[in-house]
Amino acid sequence: MRFLRHLIFHTHIILGGNQLPKKNDLNDFLAVELDKMATESNPKLTLSDGIGSIELLEVFGSDLTVVNAARVSFAKESYEMSLADEKLINYLAKHHHITPFFHPQIRLRIKMPIFVAREWFRHQIGLARNEVSRRYVDFDPEHWLPVDGIRARDPKLKQGSKAENIENNDEVFKMIEDYTNSAIGFYKNLLSLQVAPELARTVLPQSMYTEFIETGSLSAYARICGLRLDPTAQKEIRDYAGMLSSLLEKAFPVSWKALMASTTAPAPVPVPAPAPAAVPLLATTNSIVVPGTETERTITATEGSLTISVPGNVSGAQAGGPVLQVNPVTLKTTKDEQPLYTQWGC
Ligand SMILES: Cc1cc2nc3c(=O)[nH]c(=O)nc-3n(C[C@H](O)[C@H](O)[C@H](O)COP(=O)(O)OP(=O)(O)OC[C@H]3O[C@@H](n4cnc5c(N)ncnc54)[C@H](O)[C@@H]3O)c2cc1C
Repeated sequence: MRFLRHLIFHTHIILGGNQLPKKNDLNDFLAVELDKMATESNPKLTLSDGIGSIELLEVFGSDLTVVNAARVSFAKESYEMSLADEKLINYLAKHHHITPFFHPQIRLRIKMPIFVAREWFRHQIGLARNEVSRRYVDFDPEHWLPVDGIRARDPKLKQGSKAENIENNDEVFKMIEDYTNSAIGFYKNLLSLQVAPELARTVLPQSMYTEFIETGSLSAYARICGLRLDPTAQKEIRDYAGMLSSLLEKAFPVSWKALMASTTAPAPVPVPAPAPAAVPLLATTNSIVVPGTETERTITATEGSLTISVPGNVSGAQAGGPVLQVNPVTLKTTKDEQPLYTQWGC
């Protein structure tokens, strides 16, 4: 298509500026191609409710764009994808050399419920958006409903839901539908009372659809899909990430596969082992007794050093008796070298 636009543009110039091109063979060909372009629709995927959708408006670049962005480092260029180019893309993605993936740009028209858009809009870097404004428009809002089922709350999860629906799904669906319709009715009522659309909209629930144009880099969309295809993400945003992923897989077959393979959920932060519980020790001037034992350990302490002698049967302690492990958090000695126990772990 881009080639055609260039061709039309240059033909127009060659044929003399504003003058209409003559109906020669080339123009017949162009006329047919233009007709095709006018009827060709953009790739678009739609939710099961028939409203929510992602439409691929424009794609700038291809897998080759990624390759050549990387190859410029060595002053090289590829004109056709080769096996070496595929390997290069896989290498870049695997090792998170993400800048070559910034160059391809994708423009989308997205229709999504406001509660999903709230999450989607948290992704910002590498993305630009313009959204319909209900300050200015007041046509009947379209709304989302849980047509795929009303998932039950999972008591084990802080956020999220069970895979199963609630028992009385249909009854509750009707309640949600009635409530949504009444909110929309109230909104329209406010408009009829000459309330400004920017105020009337405040009574609408988060399930209203919003629409926006979004342009982002391939890399930014890989980040979104990496995070939002994860099972921990809410199903409704996962559905959008899934649609987007299918569209981009077709447009950037090699890069998308490589990016998705390299996108893993962030590694869990290692939880530090809990510090041993501080057990209060009974301290006398120069000895401590481990609680639960009668054994007295004699200690000698000077600033920076601690010696503990365990009288009696040491092998008994090794055989399972109380073993003294002292973790002095703060060890200070008084002037006369008596230990001052501030915090100990045993
Ligand atoms: C499953 C899930 C649950 C979530 N739950 C919550 C929640 O309960 N509450 C909540 O508030 N959010 C929540 N979020 C949103 C989350 O915290 C992020 O805001 C969101 O995922 C966008 O991430 P992003 O990396 O695409 O952000 P972007 O803002 O687009 O940033 C892209 C990248 O740029 C870098 N970057 C951006 N800003 C900075 C900065 N200031 N300093 C350094 N580097 C930066 C980071 O590398 C970042 O990954 C959740 C997200 C997910 C996926």
